[in-house]
Parts: sequence; C-alpha cells; structure tokens
Amino acid sequence: MTSVSLGMPAAPPPVLAPRRKTRQIRVGSVGVGSESPISVQSMTTTPTTDINATLQQIAELTAAGCDIVRVACPSADDAEALPIIAKKSQIPVIADIHFQPKYVFAAIEAGCAAVRVNPGNIRKFDDQVKEIAQAAKDHGTSLRIGVNAGSLDPRLLQKYGKATPEALVESAIWEASLFEEHDFHDFKISVKHNDPVVMVRAYELLAERGDWPLHLGVTEAGPAFQGTIKSATAFGALLSKGIGDTIRVSLSAPPVEEVKVGIQILQSLNLRPRKLEIVSCPSCGRAQVDVYTLAEEVTAGLEGMEVPLRVAVMGCVVNGPGEAREADLGVASGNGKGQIFVKGEVIKTVPESQIVETLIEEAMKIAEEMGEAGGEDAVEGGPVVTVS
Ligand code: SF4
Repeated sequence: MTSVSLGMPAAPPPVLAPRRKTRQIRVGSVGVGSESPISVQSMTTTPTTDINATLQQIAELTAAGCDIVRVACPSADDAEALPIIAKKSQIPVIADIHFQPKYVFAAIEAGCAAVRVNPGNIRKFDDQVKEIAQAAKDHGTSLRIGVNAGSLDPRLLQKYGKATPEALVESAIWEASLFEEHDFHDFKISVKHNDPVVMVRAYELLAERGDWPLHLGVTEAGPAFQGTIKSATAFGALLSKGIGDTIRVSLSAPPVEEVKVGIQILQSLNLRPRKLEIVSCPSCGRAQVDVYTLAEEVTAGLEGMEVPLRVAVMGCVVNGPGEAREADLGVASGNGKGQIFVKGEVIKTVPESQIVETLIEEAMKIAEEMGEAGGEDAVEGGPVVTVS
C-alpha cells in the first residue's frame, strides 16, 4: 500500500476578508453571527401539512449538509403540523410566515427555532410587534426580518419609485427599530432582490448601518444554472468582504441542490473546510484522452467522500504532471495511458481503461489513512485530487 504523508497545516486556509462583527443570535442549536461559522439554509418544498414527506425531505437536506431548514406556514393546518416537525427534525426549523400574524404566535408556541416574518406582507404587523417580541423572548425564539423586493412597503415604493437598495434598507431598518424599541434583539435581517447588483448594494448599505447578523439570499434566482451563477456571484461579492452570516441559495430545483451549491460557495472561499475537490482541465486540442468523461466518472465514483481530498484529472502532459503532482492524487494522461500520482510521486502507469478504477481505488486508500490519522479535522486543508 502506498504510504501517504497527510501533513498537518499550521494555520487555517486564508480567507479574503475577516468576518464583519455582528451581534450573535441562536437559531436553535445553530449560532448565527460572526462568532459562528456561516450556516447553509434551505426550504422544504413539500406541503407542510404532509408531515411525513416534510420530515423525509428535511432528513435528505440534513444528510446533504443543510444546517437550518425553513418550512412554509400559509394556513392553520400548516401551523398545526409545526410542533411535530419542529420536534422531529434533526436540524433547527424556521417557520416562514406571510400575511397572518397569528401564525407567528403559533410557530413560536410550536417550538420552532425561529420565525421568518415579512413585515411588508404581514397585516397589522407593526401593531403586534410588542406581543411578538414578548412571545419570542419567552420561548427563546429568534426571528428573521425578511424584506423582499416583491413585497416592499407601498409607502417606500412610492418614495423610491421601485425596490432600490436604499428602499430595501430603509424598510429593514424601520422594522428592526420596532423590535429594538421593545428591547428585542434576537433577529437577523435579509434584504433580498432578484438582481444580484441591487442585492449586493442593499446588503453593503445595511452592513454599514448596524451589527445585525445578515441572512444572504438572491430571491427568485431562477433555474439551477442561472440561480447558481447569480447566487455565487452575489454571495461571493459580499462574503469576500466579510458580509454574511447565513446563506440560502434559491433555485427552481430540488432543495438538496441549493444546499450543495451553498456549501460549494463557502468551500470555494475557504469559509468552510474543503472536502473532495476535483481539479480537471477543460481539455483542448492536445488532449489525448476524453477528459470530460474521465472527470465525470471520477467525480461520480468519489461522490460523498467526506475527506478533504484533492484529485487532479489532466488531459495531457503539458500541465498534467505538474497539477497531478500538486494534488493528493492525480492522473496525467497521454498515449492511451495514465500516469497515476499520489502525493507528488508516480506510483504506476495504467492503460486508459483503468484510469478511473485506479484513481478511485487509490482515493479510498488515502481516505482510509486519513480516517486512521484522526478524521477530516486532522487533515483540514490537506489532500486534494486533480483531474487534467
Ligand atoms: S492539460 Fe493538456 S489537454 Fe488539458 S487543457 Fe491543458 S494542454 Fe489541454
């Protein structure tokens, strides 16, 4: 068996900016604020009244790495389902309330970890802030003040003409002040817009105005491809300045996909330890193997790997040996063969047909050694697999 030196990095990997200092709140067992890691959220798509289906989806989201889940609560029947869902979910549950303040109280009573309120949509919300603040305090429930471009206060729409960053921020700060007047501070804020430029500017302005923890989101970001790009671009712009404490990628796609994208965004910015990373070349006229298929098959074969392994899949000898040497594991292909690298050393040369199985086999060995060395924490920032 190949011996692999795992290495113990002295310092955590670098980030682009320190986190903006915020007050700290709790969403059940998950801390939200600058003292806590940035959490990833998603939202169930099942009818909340279908308790089993909702809990099944929450279990899938939990398995995918979701930290906090939100469920919609549009009716009294949904509110009735909340106590069981909140109790049985493995991750904190946030009830999402629009229109009916009575469901805010129901969700708090139900034991939800937090309630998302959209003041622009909740009737008579301003009149009931005192009671909501008191109920939330009594139950240790935090809130999210969620301002959305699509449901902005008509007064602000008239003042600004449309949902500008300034309008979103003014709305959020007004609602925040209502709670703060009642000495309630356990809330985070979101100011979502479907345009990443408006959204980024709104969060930048909001971040300058107070120390609230911020929930990032590009609302109605679109189908998976467009929504991923919009979210990654907007979140990247903000997170690279230290702004953002919890994120939700909104996709017109199954919620597990939102979680995968959210985690990948955080990993790309070193805001979460990297796990499996495939470094594969785009291929070009020099490629001597089918790089796309090779990279896809290696990715599929290693899916779910929990160790921070960097695997290089390279198509030819131009950059192949260099990248493969830098990775924990790699292949540099050429002439129908693949040179397999482990920790910078060529350990064998195999025919093209055996490249995938050999890489997977060697990755498993490395993962096993990492596990024996103390699990992923022991090798944080360590191994990488590259495909060129
Ligand atoms: S590694 Fe080789 S095949 Fe891949 S992009 Fe670079 S030159 Fe092209």
